[in-house]
Amino acid sequence: VTYIPHLNQPDKDQVQGFFALSSDISDRKAIERMKDEFISVVSHELRTPLTSIHSSLKILATGKLGNLSHKGQRMLRIADEQTERLVRLVNNVLDLQSIQSGKIKMKKKACKATELMIEAAQTMQTMAQEHGVKLFAESVAFVVWADRDYIVQTLTNLLSNAIKFSPSHSTVWLSAKLEAQEPKTAIPFVTFEVKDQGQGIPANQLENIFERFQQVDSSDSRKKGGTGLGLAICRHIIEEHGGKIWAESSLGGGSTFYFTLPALTQKGGDDHQR
Ligand code: ADP
Repeated sequence: VTYIPHLNQPDKDQVQGFFALSSDISDRKAIERMKDEFISVVSHELRTPLTSIHSSLKILATGKLGNLSHKGQRMLRIADEQTERLVRLVNNVLDLQSIQSGKIKMKKKACKATELMIEAAQTMQTMAQEHGVKLFAESVAFVVWADRDYIVQTLTNLLSNAIKFSPSHSTVWLSAKLEAQEPKTAIPFVTFEVKDQGQGIPANQLENIFERFQQVDSSDSRKKGGTGLGLAICRHIIEEHGGKIWAESSLGGGSTFYFTLPALTQKGGDDHQR
């Protein structure tokens, strides 16, 4: 503790309070670390048996080992869906853990924003069609400083949520714009935007949803197969790039998710002025 002499000296109770608080914080941090390690070890151990259960179920589903009754096939489908959900959860936990602990180094280089957007949109096209949602990706001419795979993963996560929480016959837009530099010396950045016409998010939850395992409706993990980890992973990826991520929404009024990345060019795309 450093004292600045001309400031009022704290009394004994305040100093004791300070030490109690600081040891409380370091205790809490140690517990958090232990919890993270525990979750990570368990997830790691679960991965191999889960992969083998998944492969066995896939073989059973081919019918090569004998035909299943109608009811048997239904049971198998449920077992398969739930195993896939567990595999997703385990992978998400391990992803989050490695990004959070700095074990993974992002490989950043100059990337064309349009290529990242097209790759993510193509990956999500089938899901969009299955949900009857139209997906539009804008074409832009910016170059960003980014790890291609991780930004595509971020865009894919945001698009997947947008589709998942939208009614059929609605539209999801993916776009990006180069922000004006203010002040002129600041590093330019690109803001990516994923906009939907879905169910929306209550205002008091807009920040929580970027925390681990936070879902507006906890039954969504069962109904929609989510894990509550996607946005926490996105936040870590974007912060690792020196960017910011946030959402604007209202209940019933659709949602828009934004994130920023450092830009390498000031040239605008043909249609970035919307
Ligand atoms: P999940 O696996 O549940 O999708 P996420 O971390 O990606 O986990 O999202 C957390 C929660 O934020 C979701 O369960 C949902 O309640 C809310 N959410 C995220 N994106 C949207 C969206 N586009 N529209 C409505 N709610 C959303």
